[in-house]
Amino acid sequence: MSTSLKKTFNVNILGAGVSGLSTALALLEKGNFSVKIIATHLPTDLDIDYTSPWAGAHWRSYADIADVAQQEMDTVTFKRLTYLADNEPRAGVMYLTGHDYWEVKPKNFEDPWFKRLLKNYRHIPKEELPPGIEFGITYTTVSVNAPKYMLYLQELILEKGGILERDTVPSLKALAQIPHRNGVKADIIVNCSGLGSRNLQGVHDHQMFPTRGQIVIVKVPDEVWPKAKQFTMERYTEGSAMGTGTITYVIPRDNGEIVLGGTMEHWNYQESVSEETTKAIMKRVLASRPDLFSKATILRSCAGLRPNRRGGVRMTAAVEQLDWNEGWNPQLLIVAHNYGHAGFGYQASIGCANKTVENIEQCIGELVEARQQARTMAKL
Ligand SMILES: Cc1cc2nc3c(=O)[nH]c(=O)nc-3n(C[C@H](O)[C@H](O)[C@H](O)COP(=O)(O)OP(=O)(O)OC[C@H]3O[C@@H](n4cnc5c(N)ncnc54)[C@H](O)[C@@H]3O)c2cc1C
Repeated sequence: MSTSLKKTFNVNILGAGVSGLSTALALLEKGNFSVKIIATHLPTDLDIDYTSPWAGAHWRSYADIADVAQQEMDTVTFKRLTYLADNEPRAGVMYLTGHDYWEVKPKNFEDPWFKRLLKNYRHIPKEELPPGIEFGITYTTVSVNAPKYMLYLQELILEKGGILERDTVPSLKALAQIPHRNGVKADIIVNCSGLGSRNLQGVHDHQMFPTRGQIVIVKVPDEVWPKAKQFTMERYTEGSAMGTGTITYVIPRDNGEIVLGGTMEHWNYQESVSEETTKAIMKRVLASRPDLFSKATILRSCAGLRPNRRGGVRMTAAVEQLDWNEGWNPQLLIVAHNYGHAGFGYQASIGCANKTVENIEQCIGELVEARQQARTMAKL
């Protein structure tokens, strides 16, 4: 290990959604980063501006067959989630059988890339398909009880000496100025502010936009639960796919709740739920699996905003000077970003967090050198 990597670096992370929490944990696991998370919303909060608690969330990759980078993020995360399903009840991750149903079989259907990753992948025989479905695939996957998983990540972060602080910052510059432990300055800042990146000064990313998702959370009778808890589904109307128009999905959580969805409404910020949409979701789910949902009780309906981004997730890191008024003693630091995960923030979370750490580590040598040069210049 080089000398620069032996030093402990102070990191301020903006955001306590699944992206910020996963990045914090990945840094703490390295052993040479001290981590402080700063966020308006923290685990257990519920707010339309805090996406992570609203997710289903299950692992179903939509990475294109050629998108090797995204496949890598999803694969790393899948492997870690299956480890948690096998070994860590605190995490709220469980196995279940995925079903993708197409009302009309897509022309030139190609098996998804994850056929080689997930166990038990197969095409569903016609006689096993529900009424109205022409084609389907099935596979073994995992679901994450989103609020429980966030608390689990928070617990690990605190156990490893990380800090969470509630605060709202207007800019990257303000994030850099928040004192780290014992008043020292941050060496690294990481922006995991999701949709907040649209308005954050120093970022103002206008590629970001919300994709609203309305969901209904239900319970089924006790005698149905053993079967329902193993069943997850996505159902597509003709020509639709994840990311477009009307989708129907079912994602059970390990606490007995089942998340039913949903909608994909680009640019819609509406917090209040539509009764009509709730009814439509219930109707579509019931039509797909009456055996599981005919006696379901609605607990609540809610809506979340997926942090969507034209061009995909932003994962970058660079050495920067944010304040040009600092004269001869500038705060040179690494500025990293990990945001814009749209509808796959959970299923790519660990891969993206690891990639962000890798990006940061690649800048450390440059940071040490730039600081040394600045010190030399100040003496001249
Ligand atoms: C209905 C629905 C279903 C979904 N289903 C799935 C699924 O099945 N699988 C899956 O993988 N994903 C799913 N997702 C997507 C997933 O929820 C998101 O991709 C993920 O939660 C994004 O997390 P994040 O940490 O990037 O953002 P967020 O959770 O929004 O966190 C952003 C953080 O930044 C903080 N912040 C922002 N701006 C500031 C500021 N200026 N100052 C201080 N703090 C700030 C916020 O307070 C918050 O702590 C779903 C989403 C929805 C809405």
